[in-house]
Amino acid sequence: MSKFQSFAKLLCTISFLGLLLLTLGCGNPVKDDLAQFSTLDALLAGMYDGVWPLTEIKRQGDTGIGTFHGLNGEMIMVNGHIYRIDSKGVISEPPLTEKSPYATISFFKADQTLSLSPGTRWADMPDIVDAQLPTLNQFYLIRIEGTFQYMKTRSVPKQQKPYPSVAEVVRSQPIFERENIRGILVGVRCPVFAKGVNLPGYHLHFLADDHSMGGHVIDFISSEATVQLDRKAAFSLVLPDHDDFYKHSFVEQNQQAVEAFRSQSKP
Ligand SMILES: [Zn+2]
Repeated sequence: MSKFQSFAKLLCTISFLGLLLLTLGCGNPVKDDLAQFSTLDALLAGMYDGVWPLTEIKRQGDTGIGTFHGLNGEMIMVNGHIYRIDSKGVISEPPLTEKSPYATISFFKADQTLSLSPGTRWADMPDIVDAQLPTLNQFYLIRIEGTFQYMKTRSVPKQQKPYPSVAEVVRSQPIFERENIRGILVGVRCPVFAKGVNLPGYHLHFLADDHSMGGHVIDFISSEATVQLDRKAAFSLVLPDHDDFYKHSFVEQNQQAVEAFRSQSKP
């Protein structure tokens, strides 16, 4: 074999290895699926014990919503930071060792941006945004930033075992109301067939820019607000790995509990 042939062979080998590495690398692109930890029905069935440390949740994305061990407040994840809005309305960044029983998270990259007309109400927002979407049969991660003439949220108090149902918990949910407040809503829009796994329609949490208010959104009136949507054609579901989940029967979904969780708000 001439020197040239050896060199050519070496080049071929290097190219092949490079191609192989590239192909392997392509099997693990930047994650763009919406990651769901546990199911809504499991949460509604009282599975409030934290399963996944926040470090693990953070690996799945930089934007999302959820709750904490024992339903200890509402979770909102904005720009990679996880915040808790507790039952007194106090906002903090919990330690990453804390665990979550339920969360929906992904990396946010806007596919679509639209603005809400001043005076848009929460109850009217779904129809307005839905009309602009290419499909209602995929998932959307959502950010709505702006000022609001009115904002109404709720949080949930930390529960002790034996855990009461979500319907009972939200009966005594603390409600927060503010006028003329600036901040961000983060959440998801799920297709109707996601029932049982997540909440069909819109589910959003709020965080005021000055961290003076937040929670699970029940109502709002916009002043000026921009809606950014990240369409997700892939969805990954991480299921709890404990006895309660193994043995629970999910044959019947409790629609009353779903509506209580939603807090009777239209979306
Ligand atoms: Zn919520």
